[in-house]
Amino acid sequence: MNQRPHLSSEQFDVLIIGSGAAGLSLALTLPNHLKVGILSKERPLEGSTYYAQGGVAAVLDDYDSIDAHIADTLRAGDGLCQKPAVRFVVERSREIVEWLVSLGVKFDTRVSASGRSEFHLTQEGGHSHRRVIHAADATGKEISEQLYSAATSKPSISFLTDTIALDIITTNQLGLGSKTVCGIYALNQTTQSVTTIASPNVVLATGGASKVYLYTSNPDTASGDGIAMAWRAGCRVANMEFNQFHPTCLYHPQAKSFLISEALRGEGAILRLPNGEAFMSRFDERAELASRDIVARAIDFEMKRLGCDHVLLDISHRPAEDVKRHFPTIYQRCLSFGIDITTTPIPIVPAAHYTCGGIMTDLAGRTDVNGLYAVGESTYTGLHGANRMASNSLLECLVFARAAAEEIASSARPGTTFLDIPAWDASQVTSSEEDVLIAHNWDELRRLMWNYVGIVRSDARLIRAQRRVKLLQREIDEHYQRHFVTRDLIELRNLAQVADLIIASALRRKESRGLHYTTDYPEKMSEAIDTVLAPTNYA
Ligand SMILES: Cc1cc2nc3c(=O)[nH]c(=O)nc-3n(C[C@H](O)[C@H](O)[C@H](O)COP(=O)(O)OP(=O)(O)OC[C@H]3O[C@@H](n4cnc5c(N)ncnc54)[C@H](O)[C@@H]3O)c2cc1C
Repeated sequence: MNQRPHLSSEQFDVLIIGSGAAGLSLALTLPNHLKVGILSKERPLEGSTYYAQGGVAAVLDDYDSIDAHIADTLRAGDGLCQKPAVRFVVERSREIVEWLVSLGVKFDTRVSASGRSEFHLTQEGGHSHRRVIHAADATGKEISEQLYSAATSKPSISFLTDTIALDIITTNQLGLGSKTVCGIYALNQTTQSVTTIASPNVVLATGGASKVYLYTSNPDTASGDGIAMAWRAGCRVANMEFNQFHPTCLYHPQAKSFLISEALRGEGAILRLPNGEAFMSRFDERAELASRDIVARAIDFEMKRLGCDHVLLDISHRPAEDVKRHFPTIYQRCLSFGIDITTTPIPIVPAAHYTCGGIMTDLAGRTDVNGLYAVGESTYTGLHGANRMASNSLLECLVFARAAAEEIASSARPGTTFLDIPAWDASQVTSSEEDVLIAHNWDELRRLMWNYVGIVRSDARLIRAQRRVKLLQREIDEHYQRHFVTRDLIELRNLAQVADLIIASALRRKESRGLHYTTDYPEKMSEAIDTVLAPTNYA
């Protein structure tokens, strides 16, 4: 491989890394006179947004209220939500839905008792009202497609696909003092060249980091790139220890990231050990209907106790026709892997689902680096606290993306002079003939995070994980200095960085709160404090 630097650097008034709900809505809100570039690692629609099923939480019903939505969010966040951020998001929920509808997003409707057509709202865990607006069970697909279609018809926006941002470039890295963004390095996967892209406004909209765990419901894009890049550029991160796990993901070597809806348990499905024994009633009197965290923790406990790699979810005792009618997608998908759920229990594992912490931002998406913004799942905005309430995350993406766009629009001037960024230096590196090392490190990292930093933690496991991650980081850095960059290497380096941040945050929290549960400190402390980490180049 010949990884020459691509000498002609591109320039944009605003450069957005990520084309999910956060990146696309930010681009669409910017004024037309600004030249905007949007990067994505794969095709533009690939990302968590596309796979969101449930919907967007919003106060739309006459019987609901902003105060009720705020109270529910605060309760879910277990004392750690920042109230101004919660209010900021919830107060904008109706306006966000109206904006999506104006772009052509079609949400499900129904006819009310008085004959009026109104949005069909569902109620999800933690919400005290029906307030989740949705497009059947494929809300993310509908939102992504409409946002993308609107963005492609805006001439000021260019898409750079199959292009991976490697690192943020700041003025202090160039020896120019202050900490101001001036562009990025990115790997063009088609030409295998590293290009520089100059911009005075860079937005990280790169999504979460759930791929740091062996099992995840997230697509391959969720490798925490934005969080790792922001940390290297000098930004603080917060609350990285709060990782949400979905209790039931299909366990099958060919089935990547397929969620088995919690509605199955609502319809009577029973969780069983591999020997067929039902076990949930030993953990909670509500058995299978206990909250998501309790169910995930019980499954994890049994898997670790027995040393097994999955448990079973059994709905085969229900009439086959009812199962097929209620769960057509799950029935078909499992059947495609040879599992007839009307006769056979489904092998499942819990899976990492959502990254609650991330890059610290203010209410306008600003980070600790001038000109560098962050929006969406890659951020810590103060909304989620110690646990994300269902369907608040897409809302967070949209609200903060629009706020950041307004902030950028008020300060950005077209025709800014772009700083000269030195080309990527690949003169000292060679092709790697040891890709097996990368593959091995990927597996080792995700497995150790799953086993030692997963749903139930202890100081002993965290310290052991920390030692191993530091060693992996040294090996990865060595490889990175000597070889051409590839997608696998870039993501591995970022995942190892994120793993280190998760472990450091988890070790700091001497209590169990929200999604962080440790056997060493099972109680909650009286004071709720965010875990804020600062890199050495923060000051
Ligand atoms: C299965 C599933 C179901 C969900 N259901 C719901 C739901 O019902 N309601 C809800 O509110 N939330 C839900 N969520 C969570 C929600 O979908 C995400 O939090 C949200 O979509 C994140 O959007 P985002 O724009 O921040 O990131 P994403 O949509 O993940 O987009 C990230 C983008 O960044 C790009 N990218 C990443 N790194 C780089 C890089 N280095 N260089 C270039 N590009 C990069 C990717 O290519 C992608 O375009 C669900 C998540 C999953 C996985």
